Amino acid sequence: MSEATASHSSTQQILDELGIASENSGAFDGTWIDTQGELVHSVNPTTGEVIASVRQATAEDYEQVAAASSQAFREWRTWPAPKRGEVVRLLAEELRKHKAALSALVTLEMGKVLNEGEGEVQEMIDMADLAVGMSRQLYGLSMHSERPQHRMYEQWHPLGPVGIITAFNFPVAVWAWNSTVAAICGDSMIWKPSSQTPLTAVAVTNIAARVLERENAPAIFNLAVGDRHAVGGPLVADHRVPLISATGSVTMGRKIGTVVAERLGNSLLELGGNNGIVVTDDADLDLVLRAVLFAAVGTAGQRCTTTRRLFLQKGIAEEMKGRLIQAYGSVRIGDPMDPSTLMGPLVNQGAVDDMMNAIEVAKEQGGEVLYGGGKIDRPGFFVEPTLVAAKAHMPITCEETFAPILYIFEFEDLDEAIELHNSVPQGLSSAIFTLNMRSAERFLAATGSDCGIANVNIGTSGAEIGGAFGGEKETGGGREAGSDSWKIYMRRQTCTLNWGTELPLAQGVEFDI
Ligand code: NAD
Repeated sequence: MSEATASHSSTQQILDELGIASENSGAFDGTWIDTQGELVHSVNPTTGEVIASVRQATAEDYEQVAAASSQAFREWRTWPAPKRGEVVRLLAEELRKHKAALSALVTLEMGKVLNEGEGEVQEMIDMADLAVGMSRQLYGLSMHSERPQHRMYEQWHPLGPVGIITAFNFPVAVWAWNSTVAAICGDSMIWKPSSQTPLTAVAVTNIAARVLERENAPAIFNLAVGDRHAVGGPLVADHRVPLISATGSVTMGRKIGTVVAERLGNSLLELGGNNGIVVTDDADLDLVLRAVLFAAVGTAGQRCTTTRRLFLQKGIAEEMKGRLIQAYGSVRIGDPMDPSTLMGPLVNQGAVDDMMNAIEVAKEQGGEVLYGGGKIDRPGFFVEPTLVAAKAHMPITCEETFAPILYIFEFEDLDEAIELHNSVPQGLSSAIFTLNMRSAERFLAATGSDCGIANVNIGTSGAEIGGAFGGEKETGGGREAGSDSWKIYMRRQTCTLNWGTELPLAQGVEFDI
């Protein structure tokens, strides 16, 4: 039995530890606001039962949160970055203490299996640890001035309150990707989580608030749960918020991106993927099987990096399809709190309907279901993981259906596979399985995969936090979580300092009286 199930025998214990009541406020500005918005019920997708409820924010509640966040920013930006890092280090400690309970709540509310819920909270902790190190490495460059006795350099300053809009499928990790880095950069935050997963947001806000209070830090970690009219719209249009970091569907990104661009704000968009794995004849098929299974079936196909398209070279296609059909038949589907379960439910009935609809459309467009394709008759929102033999350029395979459907294509040579792989509008994650060095390099070359992430002999999902994460094309172009992605949370200032007695102008311009 895993630590989380062992130490939390009941849902009530989990909720109590995380400070979740049967009805909770959905807005925090340093204290919990007496919100007046609609009551949203958080439903356990495994049972269809309500876990607890959250009273969402109204536009007035949002205004209160935004004003408080702006005020917190004024103070927080004056804290030295390593001191801000210390607060984030303590946040990681507090998350470690509550890892078991928070992981279990992620599983209860979102439906991913417990082991993945634990992985998600571990990702928050890893992110915080990374950000602590970053807090001493917010480097600017220094340049040689063309003018004598001048010094030129660039420095990075805190940016302002950051709006963080998150999707239901990584209800807490995506907040940490943004918030831990934004915090060390000197920014305050307004978090608008998915109303599908409000309880994990309330729980995380409780944890973060305790740390801030103990450290006498301003209330930088703010929350506003609410719909588009009360929270989403006002946040995106808010001139006090210079950066909107939004994670979700391409449809959402297009709407938000337009509003932020209109006011000349910055946006960091992490949108949908349509991720593919290319398998060549020389690949290690045992590795392929394990990687595809995790990447296509894990989280019930509800990861932005889920493998949705598989390209098999003709020489191994039949064998691979046979092995996949067999493996899909042995995936243990059921209660995600049970440690032996590999695949839990989809998030809600809408997701089940979308999947069933996509399968029908795939059949109409010439696809053949090789495995699965149905709902599972039990409470909650369970479906069968599904394999579909597809034809090149079937329109449905160019869309992201957020469910465990894997489209399988066959190809003759690698150029053909790469062209087909790149022919979709999204560009998040990609992989090739090959033991041939030339094929691997071909895939990684400028003429290879057009995605933000390209792997060799590793599936498309399960990225580590140290690299910059994000995708190209309709995936939105944003980068988060590692490398130099901290720069988007700061403003760059180029400074030129004259320590001489003359005033030479650049480019040799003379302007003397
Ligand atoms: P969604 O687009 O329905 O919602 C995402 C968030 O945006 C929610 O908080 C939602 O309330 C908010 N939102 C939607 N429209 C808005 C608007 N007009 N103004 C302000 N806020 C708005 O997505 P979802 O169903 O919660 O999540 C699944 C999607 O997220 C998939 O497409 C998946 O690929 C994507 N995703 C991407 C990444 C990534 O890093 N690229 C990570 C996780 C999820």
